[in-house]
Amino acid sequence: MQEPTLLRTSALAGFKNEPLRDFSEESHRQAVREALTQVETARLAGRLAARPIVDGQTSQGSSSFVRVDPSDSSLGVGAVYLADESLSEKAVQSCLAGLRDWRAAGVATRVAAVRQIARLMREQKGYLAAVMTRESGKPWKEADGDVAEAIDFCEYYAILAENLGGLAEDLGGARLTERVLGEENLYFYQPRGVATVISPWNFPLAITCGMAVAALVTGNTVILKPAEQASIIGAEFARIVYEAGVPASSFAFLPGLGETVGRFLVAHPRVDMIAFTGSRGVGFEIIKTAATVVPGQRSIKKVIAELGGKNAIIVDEDADMDDAIRGILYSAFGYAGQKCSACSRLIVVGSAYEPLLKRLARATKDLIIGAASDPASFLGPVIDDESRSRINSIVSDGCKNLTLLAQGSLTSAQEKVGSYVNPTIFRDVPVTHSIWREEIFGPVLACLQVQTFEQALSVATDSEYALTGGVFSRHPRHLELAREEYRVGNLYLNRSITGALVGRQPFGGFGFSGIGSKAGGPDYLLQFVEPRVVTENTMRRGFSPDL
Ligand code: NAD
Repeated sequence: MQEPTLLRTSALAGFKNEPLRDFSEESHRQAVREALTQVETARLAGRLAARPIVDGQTSQGSSSFVRVDPSDSSLGVGAVYLADESLSEKAVQSCLAGLRDWRAAGVATRVAAVRQIARLMREQKGYLAAVMTRESGKPWKEADGDVAEAIDFCEYYAILAENLGGLAEDLGGARLTERVLGEENLYFYQPRGVATVISPWNFPLAITCGMAVAALVTGNTVILKPAEQASIIGAEFARIVYEAGVPASSFAFLPGLGETVGRFLVAHPRVDMIAFTGSRGVGFEIIKTAATVVPGQRSIKKVIAELGGKNAIIVDEDADMDDAIRGILYSAFGYAGQKCSACSRLIVVGSAYEPLLKRLARATKDLIIGAASDPASFLGPVIDDESRSRINSIVSDGCKNLTLLAQGSLTSAQEKVGSYVNPTIFRDVPVTHSIWREEIFGPVLACLQVQTFEQALSVATDSEYALTGGVFSRHPRHLELAREEYRVGNLYLNRSITGALVGRQPFGGFGFSGIGSKAGGPDYLLQFVEPRVVTENTMRRGFSPDL
């Protein structure tokens, strides 16, 4: 293979990913313990809550619920106050009114605000991670990674925005299309307008922040609707956005139900774009609704939709088994399998199948399951009881007609405490079975033996989704073949398939895994702007210097 050229422009050369905490160091462990105590104090004092904020006014919404800690369902984390349609209408009007000023504020002001968001999140890293540990059941390492990724999105998009080549109010950055005598042609970008950001619960800070700051830094005003299960971390993010100096009319925060507030915003005639990350069903509905033009509409809505995956890891006959087992376990069961990039299918070539499964079964039984706040836990709970029941029912159906390879060590006492699901592996799963084909979004892995590497590739890519994929192999020709034929958005060779880093592994899929260019990649911001060209005749015929 030819030596590839560098994707990173010189402007991005200075970008560095936020370092992850090293929990083998006592100082980092101590920092997390202190942050968890701080969050517990806030929880007991009733300070953890999510309230709608529109035009700078905080309100109690029209109804509320108490979000419970998935690690211990007897504990309420905080109250979530839900916006309704009439408050959503106010949010759209406020963000419409704020458009001109936010655009006119200029790229330097917006970049400064986004960098300030990053600075504030860095200062409050432990606290934000601890909120996610309680609200979303994110174990320490995953929660730390979530905050780091959120900071990365801010820093990376700030650099991209500075180098985008001028927004309308900032013609200094505009580019000449070419040099022509007597004519000047300027090419530059303008924001799209009012952007609705609808985020999922599984990367409650990183994905929420990434979509919101991309829209803000490019001059759009933003209405953020977080996932119901992650509204409290959403509220912490909103607080930071305002603290960083983003004006009240540029950003509205609307905790609310997807079926009401989400639907209302998507269908609203004055919403110009929707940045959505979530499930395929909801994504498809959003694309359809956004394509239906309603009276009062002024633009064709732009939709970015990052959806699900049914990702496979292939283990070749000659693969390093130690590496493969570690990679599979982390990819399949990290954050209880609730990552869009998670591995849910394992395809093993030839004679490697039985020995690999034997070791995988033993390792799965040894995984430590426990509260997300306990540093010893490899596997925390799933997001809520609804999700637990759904996953458990898929597993019990599977047990009726599939061969169970192994389950984890979940105890009945743990099952009573929180929304825990036992990690489960099925073997010899037919490729027609729903467990093989449909996204489960939980700690469930389906395994299959194939005879050749080529067969493995064909089975792996026989999916409606195309998000991530992985190969463990020592065979150079097989790795080359995988590069060419294993067509997914993010392919990983000889490593785990989750944990993409902003800038280093721009992230996103195609097929039914979504539409949009990769988050944390060089083209991402272009989706939030519209290009314009201004042509001027510079021959100055009729030019009158006195006027
Ligand atoms: P979800 O689709 O249930 O919800 C996502 C958001 O959409 C929430 O804020 C929800 O309130 C809102 N919503 C629900 N119904 C709506 C409607 N009718 N109109 C408008 N908004 C509506 O997804 P989830 O359970 O929060 O997240 C898990 C899913 O997200 C998985 O499928 C996962 O693969 C996917 N995901 C994809 C990526 C990616 O980058 N491709 C990243 C993370 C998660």
